[in-house]
Amino acid sequence: MVLYCCAFNCKENYVKGGPYTFHSFPKDETRRKEWCRLLRRENFTPTNASKICSKHFDYECFD
Ligand SMILES: [Zn+2]
Repeated sequence: MVLYCCAFNCKENYVKGGPYTFHSFPKDETRRKEWCRLLRRENFTPTNASKICSKHFDYECFD
């Protein structure tokens, strides 16, 4: 299975041992919204399959 980053304009896909890690959206509504804002995809509704690469965040954003 190939994972793609769903961030705006991001073309990273998951490479084993690659430079970025991939993360699911938080279950918490507030943080989920914050992520969408950071990704400039405010009207985007993430699904459980949506992944974001670590390029877009500082580590403190992750659980
Ligand atoms: Zn990305």
